[in-house]
Amino acid sequence: MSTQEAQPENLMEAIVSLAKRRGFVFQSSEIYGGLNGFFDYGPLGVELKKNIRDCWWNDMVRRRDDVVGIETSIIMHPKVWEASGHVAGFTDPLVDCKVSKDRYRADQLFWAPIVVDGNTIGYVSALESEKTVEELQAAAESFKRKKAIQGALAPVVAKDFTEAKPEEIALIPSPATGNPGDLTPPRSFNMMFQTNVGAMTNASSVAYLRPETAQGMFVDFKNVVDTNRVKLPFGIAQIGKSFRNEITPRNFIFRSREFEQMEMEYFIHEDADWAKVHEEWISWCEAWLKSIGLPDSHLSRYSHPKEKLAFYSRGTVDIMFKYPFGVQELWGIAARGSYDLTQHANASGKPQEVFDEASKKKFVPHVIEPAVGVDRIFLAVLTAGYAEEEVTDEKGNKEKRTVLRLSPRIAPVKVAVLPLLKNKEVLTNRAKALYAKLKRNYAVQYDDGGAIGKRYRRQDEAGTPWCVTIDFDTIEKPGDTFTLRERDSMQQKRITESELFALLQENVY
Ligand code: ATP
Repeated sequence: MSTQEAQPENLMEAIVSLAKRRGFVFQSSEIYGGLNGFFDYGPLGVELKKNIRDCWWNDMVRRRDDVVGIETSIIMHPKVWEASGHVAGFTDPLVDCKVSKDRYRADQLFWAPIVVDGNTIGYVSALESEKTVEELQAAAESFKRKKAIQGALAPVVAKDFTEAKPEEIALIPSPATGNPGDLTPPRSFNMMFQTNVGAMTNASSVAYLRPETAQGMFVDFKNVVDTNRVKLPFGIAQIGKSFRNEITPRNFIFRSREFEQMEMEYFIHEDADWAKVHEEWISWCEAWLKSIGLPDSHLSRYSHPKEKLAFYSRGTVDIMFKYPFGVQELWGIAARGSYDLTQHANASGKPQEVFDEASKKKFVPHVIEPAVGVDRIFLAVLTAGYAEEEVTDEKGNKEKRTVLRLSPRIAPVKVAVLPLLKNKEVLTNRAKALYAKLKRNYAVQYDDGGAIGKRYRRQDEAGTPWCVTIDFDTIEKPGDTFTLRERDSMQQKRITESELFALLQENVY
C-alpha cells in the first residue's frame, strides 16, 4: 500500500467541514441561525477537549510538586475587576461603519494612501488577513486604473486604523461600502460582559462575567497559602470558562466570545531571577505542546517589544502557532512582577504578603503567568493533524482517505474494536468481551457496521490511533491474537490482549 499526502488548499474550510460532519464542533444555537462567537462541542469534540484539559491538569498540577489547583467562580465581586484594571482598561479600539453598521477592531482594519509619482491620489482599506498587503496593493491598482491616472504607483505602506490621523479618517474608505467618510474615529470598547446580581437592576448590582481566570488565583492567594503547605516558588492553576465580548470573533473557534482558559500563576521571591524562571516556563509550555502532538515546525516564539508592554510587565513571550489563516498567538507567558497582588492588597486593604524566613522580611511575591486557551489548542491539533491522502492498495486501486493524526494522549477514541463480521457470534462475542474490558479504562468504540475498510476510514477521520479486528484467526489459531491496524502507517500486525493493554499504557497518559 502506498500513500500520497497533501493538505487541502483551503485547509480551514476542510477542518470546519470535518468538525461539523463528524460532530467535533457545531455552531451554537444553529437552528436559530447561530450566535456569532459561540460554539458547541459535539460527542467527539467534547472528548478531545476533555483530553486536552486532563493532559494539562495531570502534567501541570498532579505530576508537579510545586503547583496546586483551584476552581473559582465565574462571577466575582465587581471590585476585583476595578483593582485588576479591567474596568478601566480591558478595551479594544472599535470603529463603526455608519452606513453598513459593521463594526471593526481598529487594529485589525488596515489602510494605505495610494501614491502615484509622489502624490497621494486616494486611500484603500482592507481587513487583516494573511494577504492584507496584496489586497491593498490590488485595490490601489484598481483605483488608479478606474480613474485613468498615469504615472508610477508606489508599493502600498499598510497601517492600522489606530494610526490614522483625524484628517485621514475622513478619506479612508469603509471596507463594507468602499466609500470614504463612512468610518467613525476609533473609540474604546470594554470587552467584559455585564450582568446584574440579585433581583434589583441598578448601578450597585452590576457584575461581570470573568474575561480571564487569572484573577481567581490572585484573589484566593492568601486562602491557598494559609490552608496548604506551599512554599515559594509555587503555582496555582485553574481551568475554566472566560468571556470576552470580542468585536470581531473570527477564524472559527480561534477567537470566540465564550472560551476556556488554562492558566497558572507561578509565585516567586521578589529577588528571584525572574528571567530564568520565565524562560523555564516558556520551554515547559513548548515541550508540553509537543507532548500532545504539535510539530516543532508549526511553533515559534514572539517576544513583545518592551515599549508595547504594560508598565508593570517585565516581559511577555507568546508561543505562536502556524494556523491556516496565519501565525497567531497560542500561549502567552507573561512576567507580571508583583502588580496583581499589590493591586488587590491596596484595593481590599488586606495585605498579600508572605514571610521570608531567611531575611525575616515580609514581601509581595512576583509572578510568572502561562495562559493558554483550550479552544486554540483544539484548533491547532486539528490543523496539524488533518491530512487528505491518496491511498493505492496492492491491486493498484486508488482511494482518498481523510485522516486526523491526533496524538494518542488526546485522541477522542483510543481504540476501535471491530468484529470482522457482524453476524458471526464467535467473532462478536470475543469482540464484545474485549470492548467491555477496554472501556473500563479507555474511551473505545465498538463498530460492526459495514465493510472493514469503511470502518477503518471512519476511525481515521475521527483520529482513532488504533483499530483491532477480531477475525477467524483470533478464534481458530492459538494465541488469541487480533489484527492491530495503525492509523498513520495503516500497517497491520497481530497482537495479544496483554500487548494491546501495554501499548495503551505506554501511549495514553
Ligand atoms: P489576543 O491577542 O489573541 O486577543 P490575548 O493576548 O488578549 O489574545 P490573553 O489575555 O493573554 O490573550 O489570554 C490568554 C490566552 O487565552 C490566549 O493566549 C489565547 O490562547 C486564549 N484566548 C484569549 N482570547 C481568546 C478568545 N477570544 N477566544 C479563544 N481563546 C482566547
